[in-house]
Amino acid sequence: MDDLIQKAAADLAQAKMVSALTGAGASIESGIPPFRGKGGLWEKYDPMEVAHIDSFIQDPVKVWNLLIKDMKDIVDQAQPNDCHKGLARLEELGKLQTIITQNIDGLHQMAGNTDVIEFHGTFAWQRCMECNTHIETRRVDISEIPPHCQCGGILRPNAVFFGELIPQEALWRSRQVATDSDVMLVIGTSAVVQPAALMPVVAKESGATVIEINPESTVLTNDISDYLIKGPAGDTINRIMANLDALL
Ligand code: NAD
Repeated sequence: MDDLIQKAAADLAQAKMVSALTGAGASIESGIPPFRGKGGLWEKYDPMEVAHIDSFIQDPVKVWNLLIKDMKDIVDQAQPNDCHKGLARLEELGKLQTIITQNIDGLHQMAGNTDVIEFHGTFAWQRCMECNTHIETRRVDISEIPPHCQCGGILRPNAVFFGELIPQEALWRSRQVATDSDVMLVIGTSAVVQPAALMPVVAKESGATVIEINPESTVLTNDISDYLIKGPAGDTINRIMANLDALL
């Protein structure tokens, strides 16, 4: 494990273009539950019942009550953890250029990263399904469910539900970033949600070193990742950064 931490620091020190792909695991230490795995939301709910666009259109009250209301409470309170802070420092050092995140919690930007591709959109804003007005989530009055826009339309998160397309700009830029990377850090993702999970594959095919950070192995571990550092995101990033500081 210590060897891999040192190896990661050395790979980062040498790289010219570093990117990171992050998933729900990167925000677990900020108190936001993941979807899959222990404590994941899918232990409680059926994803197709609460996170598919067809379910939302059919019964927005149910989806707001089962998923979005709780998510709003949790995301409103969440603060960046050591993983987010470490990645912000990696950018400050001129090492990390871009984060592709599957997360919708805005914590990378809160930590200070300036180039964050929100692959699945953002929970920071709600948008009206009728007139497309955007309203900051923290300003949305949820005393009535579902909340409505002034025009009378129903508000929905400005995030991607299952069954919806990835914003074209996010997809296009992510592929570009993956192609250009010398090193891609893949942090806290089960890598089963497509097309986000393709980005490490694109990076690898373009010659990048793919470094996974996750307490568990994933579908990428054997065939795509150069190595997996098994551990929680915050502690692992802290240890890599301490080793990197000694090299720069
Ligand atoms: P996932 O829920 O499928 O998988 C979470 C991964 O995190 C697992 O591989 C797990 O082993 C790992 N993990 C657990 N604890 C960890 C820790 N302390 N440090 C690092 N890794 C840890 O997550 P996913 O692959 O991102 O896919 C789920 C989808 O759900 C994404 O599209 C994302 O948009 C959405 N989501 C987002 C949030 C958020 O914004 N924070 C939260 C839940 C789900």
